[in-house]
Amino acid sequence: RRSSFFFGPVQLEDHETEDLGGDGSNLRYNGIVEGIEGCIGNTPLVKIRSLSEATGRTILAKAEFLNGAGGSPKDRVALNMIEAAEAQGLLTPGRGDTIYEGTVGSTGISLAVLARARGYRAHICMPNDQASEKSDLLHHLGAIVERVPPAPITSPDHFVNLARRRAYDHTASATTPDASRGFFADQFESPFNYQAHMQTTGPEILRQTGGRIDAFVAGAGTGGTVAGVAKYLKETAGLGLLGMRVVLADPYGSGLFNKVRHGVMYAATEREGTRRRQQVDTIVEGIGINRITENFEAGRELVDDAVRVTDDQACRMARWLVERDGIFIGSSSAVNCVAAVATALKMPEGSVVVTVLCDSGTRHLSKFWKHIGESGLEGDDGHDANEQVQGSP
Ligand code: PMP
Repeated sequence: RRSSFFFGPVQLEDHETEDLGGDGSNLRYNGIVEGIEGCIGNTPLVKIRSLSEATGRTILAKAEFLNGAGGSPKDRVALNMIEAAEAQGLLTPGRGDTIYEGTVGSTGISLAVLARARGYRAHICMPNDQASEKSDLLHHLGAIVERVPPAPITSPDHFVNLARRRAYDHTASATTPDASRGFFADQFESPFNYQAHMQTTGPEILRQTGGRIDAFVAGAGTGGTVAGVAKYLKETAGLGLLGMRVVLADPYGSGLFNKVRHGVMYAATEREGTRRRQQVDTIVEGIGINRITENFEAGRELVDDAVRVTDDQACRMARWLVERDGIFIGSSSAVNCVAAVATALKMPEGSVVVTVLCDSGTRHLSKFWKHIGESGLEGDDGHDANEQVQGSP
């Protein structure tokens, strides 16, 4: 296996990799952290034992649900977007400013937490078909929540367009210099999204693995995670030159799979051979889109392949992980793990595949886990990991 720790401009000192051992220097948080912001990042990279044993490959997952502000990788993004806005003078503490965002939930939760911590208001626009845990949580965090019917991105009432309009209307109503402003965080198009992953998630994965990574697998909601991590690991750290692959995990109904595989954007239904241009219904929340965002575009050329995952596969994987590993996750994490296994099985034995656990199953009790509970899926009957990916394109 690779033993070199020199990756382009990044050079890992020997002690940095040794620190990942058991002498106490690998404590997740060493000493006191400053506020809730201090609980963001530095998440564990977990070896998923059951999937590693079943595949003969090493399946590692970045436990992003352990980000301690809003419980997802969006903590990193929200903090970076807010800090950038403060630096640009778009947000000023004490002025009563409001952060507006269009989100399916996770980014809104991270922004709402940080808004409280830094003296802002949060106004979140989200589709009304997402798990109620997310809007309930936003409500308790003190955010204004507008839940709107799902609409195409071309509609002015799409949740992203609505949030942008609300922010602009707020700022336009400011008549004095010290009047409060609206700030549209704009996670889908803002470069501060993927850059947060370039600056933190990617370097953490490199340190935690010592660079021994054969593939990175992740879904795209905004594309920030996959683009930022891919850019850091492949370009900055130079792992692309060593053959590291980046694979997109895509639920049915998303157009990205076909964009990556065939260069064209269209969604596919679960019915074989049927192709439609509109979104199909999926139980998966947070990943899968039908447009190329600036964040996905930032890493698009670095994505080598895509794996399409059905709702049924995601449900089986979620159940598998809780039964065998005690890992209780949401739907996008389950999609990522199915795609990680599919990717691993195409690689030589002993390969190392890294993926992301985005959020906890506790945020998906009323929809994804309810569906799993009611679906009559077989329980712990020993179906193996190969079965998980059967039927994957
Ligand atoms: N999982 C969940 C639960 C999410 O909310 C999101 C973001 N919408 C993602 C995954 C995808 O992350 P990204 O936006 O970085 O592509």
